[in-house]
Amino acid sequence: MSKSAFYDAIPIMEHIQKHGYTAYFVGGAVRDFYLARVINDVDIATSAMPNEIEQLFDHTIPVGKAHGTINVVWKGCNYEVTTFRTEDNYEDHRRPSHVHFVRSLYEDVARRDFTINAMAMDTKFELYDYFNGLEDLKARCIRTVGNPVARFSEDALRIIRGLRFQSQLDFDIETKTYEAMKSCAKDIKYLSVERIMTEFEKLLKGKGIAKAFKVLLHLDLMAHIPYFKMFNWQNVEINTSITLAQFLAFIHLIEGKKEGLNSLKLSNQTLKEAEKLYQAVQSLQSITSKSSLTIWIYDYGIECAQTILNLKTLLESHSIQLPSPLVFNFNTIKTISEHLPIYSRKDMDINGKVLIDELHLGRGPWLKHTLREIECAIVTKKVRNIQAEIIEWVKYNVEI
Ligand code: ATP
Ligand code: MG
Repeated sequence: MSKSAFYDAIPIMEHIQKHGYTAYFVGGAVRDFYLARVINDVDIATSAMPNEIEQLFDHTIPVGKAHGTINVVWKGCNYEVTTFRTEDNYEDHRRPSHVHFVRSLYEDVARRDFTINAMAMDTKFELYDYFNGLEDLKARCIRTVGNPVARFSEDALRIIRGLRFQSQLDFDIETKTYEAMKSCAKDIKYLSVERIMTEFEKLLKGKGIAKAFKVLLHLDLMAHIPYFKMFNWQNVEINTSITLAQFLAFIHLIEGKKEGLNSLKLSNQTLKEAEKLYQAVQSLQSITSKSSLTIWIYDYGIECAQTILNLKTLLESHSIQLPSPLVFNFNTIKTISEHLPIYSRKDMDINGKVLIDELHLGRGPWLKHTLREIECAIVTKKVRNIQAEIIEWVKYNVEI
């Protein structure tokens, strides 16, 4: 177990303690420390009020002051320091309408979702484990803090978070927690899609995705998520960790396009990545020769090929065939890629303006199509990437 991630934050906590307040490491970092997982950032919870934290440190940023979170900038690093709080009045199963700042650690951890996320640790690495989180960690078990029906009714996102942790940690869900997930599943529809997708994305990437995805379908959660609710999930199995973009491309491939992808409110980058992967797999279907494979590699790149090879079992088990491994395998792709004469249009020794001048033609649809023909001819070595030779080649080979 590595303590190094915590050491940097200890001076901050000691500074808080020196002024009469308490401060603890809480949440995911404590859980991951006991699981010997990599710890990215540590969260600190304190009895000091947000204003008090601001007074104690020279450089602070009020990132979520209304909810108690102040970022303390210390030796060039950012530390999230959050005042102990309780939450009340969950309206519509969404977020709490009010948070109350409190002075006790117990109250703060009692409002947290799962026992494994409700452990706290002080600067001496002493554990404060009011809900037996460590026992559940050892048993690899996900269990809510307190009554599961009550906790999921307060915030239905915890259902998806539970599956997210099941997937990330490869844990099981405790029976009563699971039963409550089932009875509260329909409340997912009240959640904002952004909160759902943040957790869903982490769920897909987890090493225990196969089991977690089965549970997700078993709970019929998809029926309450925009866009996904239109698909038939009956025969879908996800047996490998996968990014959200890859998942979107995958369902596009197996289910066809459906209206309403925008309702998931995803970033343009995710959507673009998904579309590229979808197109890449689609155009793989028409690879019949070495030259069409070479053009494919030029168009989509070696990383995309690697992604598709990683997803091969998933794709083929859902009836999406890839070209034979004799043709489409990493070594062949790597060799072809390393010997490409150009890697993008920018590398071509010609451009639209030169073509217009040399062929004495005006702008028009011919230009786009001719540039593409030239690009493919260079890539497949039908013509060398030398301007004069390209122009000659166009005159004899391209119908304009
Ligand atoms: P990760 O390492 O993936 O960030 P994490 O446990 O830190 O995992 P976060 O989403 O960052 O997860 O949340 C931080 C902590 O806040 C959790 O460990 C949990 O104690 C608490 N928490 C977060 N979301 C909720 C929620 N919806 N209901 C109750 N507690 C929550
Ligand atoms: Mg976190």
